[in-house]
Amino acid sequence: MAAHSCRRIVHAAGDATGRELVRTLAAAVRRVPSITVLEGMEARRLFVEDGAIAGVLAVGSKGAVTMSTSRVVLATGGIGGLFSDTRNPIGSCGHGLALAACAGAELADLEFVQFHPTALDGPRRPMPLVSEAVRGEGAVLVNDKGQRFLADAPGGELASRDVVARAVWHQLAAGRRVFLDARQCLGPRFGKRFPTIAQLCREAGIDLTIEPIPVRTAAHYHMGGVAVDATGRTSVEGLWACGEVACTGLHGANRLASNSLTEAVATAGWVAESVVGASPGCRRRLLYTLVPPRPDPSCIRPVVSAALGIIRDGETLREAAAALLQIATVNQAASDPALVALMIAIAALGREESRGSHYRSDFPGRDADARSLRLTLRTAIQAAVALGWRAPTRST
Ligand SMILES: Cc1cc2nc3c(=O)[nH]c(=O)nc-3n(C[C@H](O)[C@H](O)[C@H](O)COP(=O)(O)OP(=O)(O)OC[C@H]3O[C@@H](n4cnc5c(N)ncnc54)[C@H](O)[C@@H]3O)c2cc1C
Repeated sequence: MAAHSCRRIVHAAGDATGRELVRTLAAAVRRVPSITVLEGMEARRLFVEDGAIAGVLAVGSKGAVTMSTSRVVLATGGIGGLFSDTRNPIGSCGHGLALAACAGAELADLEFVQFHPTALDGPRRPMPLVSEAVRGEGAVLVNDKGQRFLADAPGGELASRDVVARAVWHQLAAGRRVFLDARQCLGPRFGKRFPTIAQLCREAGIDLTIEPIPVRTAAHYHMGGVAVDATGRTSVEGLWACGEVACTGLHGANRLASNSLTEAVATAGWVAESVVGASPGCRRRLLYTLVPPRPDPSCIRPVVSAALGIIRDGETLREAAAALLQIATVNQAASDPALVALMIAIAALGREESRGSHYRSDFPGRDADARSLRLTLRTAIQAAVALGWRAPTRST
C-alpha cells in the first residue's frame, strides 16, 4: 500500500474490512449484559461542573434526556461530512470535537485533514471509495488525454496519500478528468479481488473490462482531534476520547493506509482500562435550558470545501474564518459544524508551512520544527476575533 515499506495489511472479505470489524464488535457488545445500547440517541452537550464531566445531554426519539456520569468516552468519528466531496457518512461532521471544545477540552493538529485521491467520481454522497489496494495491485492514474501524470514522481501511484491527492487535484483544477486504470494489472480478475468496488462500478454503469474508473479526491480522514494522553484522557477530567475523534499523534500529519482501525482497536483497550480505574463519582441533578439543534453542516460545505481543501492559502482561510465565526456564534443547526470548521481554519492559519496533508500555496516549504498546534474553544475564538472580526459572546 502507498508509502508502506512492506505488505503488512490484513483484509477481511477482500475489501470489506470495516464491515467485518463492525459486525464482530457489535456482536461482542450484545453478548455483554452490563452494556446498554441506546440506539438513535445523539449526544448534544456535555455537562461540566468544577472543571470535570458531570453528565451528558442527549436527544432520542422521545426527546431530550440527561445522563448523570463523571466518565464519558467520545468515539464519534471524523469530520468528512463538513466537505462537499467526502468519503465519510454525510452526518459525520465532527460533532464529538464540538462537544469536547464546548466542554473546554484541548484539541490538537486540527489542520491535518486527509483527502483520499481515488473516490469514485459521480453524484453519490458519500462518494464510494476505490481502495488504495487497487493501486497496490498495479493500477495507474491517467487523465482524459491518457497521460500517466505520476509516472515520473517518486513512488508513482503509490506515493504517500497527500502527494497523490495533490497530483489528482492539480489535474482536476486544470479541467482534466482523472481515471484509475486497472485493465492491465487486474482485467477480468478485478471482480474477484475487489468484489465491493466492482459492484459499485457496475452500479455506476462502468464496465471494468473495457473502461478505466473515473476518480476524484474526497475528504477521508482527520489526523487531528481531541488531544489525548496514552490512556485516551483529554484535558477535561472525566472525558476520554478514542478512534478518529481523538488525536493521539500516532498518524502525524498524514495517516498511512489501514492504521486508523488498528489505532482505534488498540487504544480502545487502553481507554477501557483507564475508565475502569477512574472513580465513578456521584450522581448529580443536571439542569439545562437549551437543547442545541441537530447539527447540519450543509450550508457551510461550500466555504469549508473552498478554504480547507487540498490546497490552502491565508487569504481564503481568513475569509472562511470570518464567515464561520458568524455562523458558529448563533444557536442554529450549522453552529456546531461551523465551530469545528472555524477551529480547523484557525489551526490551518497558524501553521504557516506545508506538512503532510496540510498544504499552503503561500507557504509551500516545511519548517524544521514539527510542532503540534493546540487550541481550545476560547483560544480559537480569540484568534478569530484577533483577525479583526467582532462577534457576540457564544452561549454554550
Ligand atoms: C470508506 C472508508 C474506508 C476506510 N477504510 C479504512 C481501512 O481500510 N483501514 C483503516 O484503518 N481505516 C479505514 N478508514 C478509516 C476508518 O474507517 C475510520 O477512521 C474509523 O471507522 C473511525 O472509527 P471510529 O470508531 O472512531 O468512528 P466511526 O466508525 O466513524 O463511528 C463513530 C460513531 O459515532 C456516532 N456519533 C457521532 N456523533 C455522535 C453523537 N453526537 N452522539 C452519538 N453518536 C454519535 C456515529 O453515528 C458513528 O456511529 C476508512 C474510512 C472510510 C470512510
